[in-house]
Amino acid sequence: MKGHFITTLGFTVLFAGIASALYFPSPTSVRAFAPPQQEPVTSAPAKSPSVAKVRVIVIDPGHGGIDAGATSTGALEKDLTLLMARRLRTTLQSRLSATIVLTRDSDIDLTSEARAGVANNNQASLFVSLHTGYSPDKMASGSSIYVMKPDFTGGLSEPAGGRMFLPWYMAFRTNAAASQALAENLQKNLNQALPGWKFPIRFGPMGVLASATMPAIALEVGNLNNDANAKMLGEPEFQAKLTATIAEAIEQFAGGGRKQ
Ligand SMILES: [Zn+2]
Repeated sequence: MKGHFITTLGFTVLFAGIASALYFPSPTSVRAFAPPQQEPVTSAPAKSPSVAKVRVIVIDPGHGGIDAGATSTGALEKDLTLLMARRLRTTLQSRLSATIVLTRDSDIDLTSEARAGVANNNQASLFVSLHTGYSPDKMASGSSIYVMKPDFTGGLSEPAGGRMFLPWYMAFRTNAAASQALAENLQKNLNQALPGWKFPIRFGPMGVLASATMPAIALEVGNLNNDANAKMLGEPEFQAKLTATIAEAIEQFAGGGRKQ
């Protein structure tokens, strides 16, 4: 690999040399290319740079297949996450002109890597993994918004001078700030829409987020060890409110892009 880069660099330098010879052959030409001094400048209309970029959003219903997720009250996390994801897809499709892709649309098990892979392979602009929360303490709130732990290294020590390449499981680093901004915006919207619920932002080494190459978060809602929470999570009215709130946060984060 090293040899390849040296060759490429040599070629680039050579090409740059030819290019400057072509563009700046003499002092006369340099003067001719000098920019005019008092030209009126028309600025481009202000527009969020993210609007045009949000083409694909990937929603990941947590768990599936033999992995039921939290189950203690009888409700299965894997079923609730699929219901939430389908609702969120419908809501987002009605509001945004982006393509909405689910990592699974049936009761199948997927690895964390496969889930992030769906987002990466579809060149998604956003990746949201949906879960219900769980706490052994029945009275704990259980909800969280997870962002990948910033200093996660997968057990490898950082070489002096930093890494030249990111291993696949550190892809999250390329969008760490945007992921946190997405989490904060979602937190604000959820706290407003669901008074009494708390959605703390936590940083954890989550496998499903590690290799995502776009802003990525995981949302855990409620405590599936709490009977009242489990019942509410299965109610269509609650799910509709929840998914509308997530969709609103995503739309705000995407900077618009609303369907005309
Ligand atoms: Zn889960």
